[in-house]
Amino acid sequence: MTRVVILGLIGAGKGTQAVRVAEERDIVHISTGDMFRAAATAGTELGLRARGYMERGELVPDQVTIDMLLERISEPDAEGGFILDGFPRTGGQAEALERALAERGLGVDVVTRIEVPQEVLLDRIAKRADLEGRTDDRPEVAAERLRVQRTGIEDVARFYGARGVLVVVDGVGSVDEVAARLSEALDRVSPRVETA
Ligand code: AMP
Repeated sequence: MTRVVILGLIGAGKGTQAVRVAEERDIVHISTGDMFRAAATAGTELGLRARGYMERGELVPDQVTIDMLLERISEPDAEGGFILDGFPRTGGQAEALERALAERGLGVDVVTRIEVPQEVLLDRIAKRADLEGRTDDRPEVAAERLRVQRTGIEDVARFYGARGVLVVVDGVGSVDEVAARLSEALDRVSPRVETA
């Protein structure tokens, strides 16, 4: 059973890597960004509340995000382990997660931080905006998202660094190269699922 947090600025490839890790380790991939986008598309109350923040590249308020995430990790499929992608994004979120897991005698096993220089990030984001047409990947919104994310990630990295579970992974290179580095880091705490 493994509980992983993956940290990385937008464009660091964290979503792609998180999906691979989930498959490789047979754990669930939980992306708060995906959850908010799905809620916005479905037009639920949560989605309507989140939409404005997302369009401006701002963070959805902590309590809304924390409630949504804690509910998700309480579902049966998350019992076997999970990789959190896009959460925690603030010190308050990290503390709330720690408290909720501790109540069940659990904790986060490892936090991987994927590091990519700013110019590589901006280049990747611009390409994704062209390919996927995500409105929050537009250059001016992307720059604001990067700024907000950078502050949050430092707080979260400090939180987990103090607990000795933070591992930094070089995110420059092909998807396979980065995946191999990530696997190596995770092998220290989590078994891989054997595939034929
Ligand atoms: P992402 O796809 O992870 O970049 O998330 C897209 C948007 O969803 C963000 O720009 C935020 O508006 C919102 N969001 C996702 N995760 C969080 C979080 N942990 N805390 C607050 N807002 C979030």
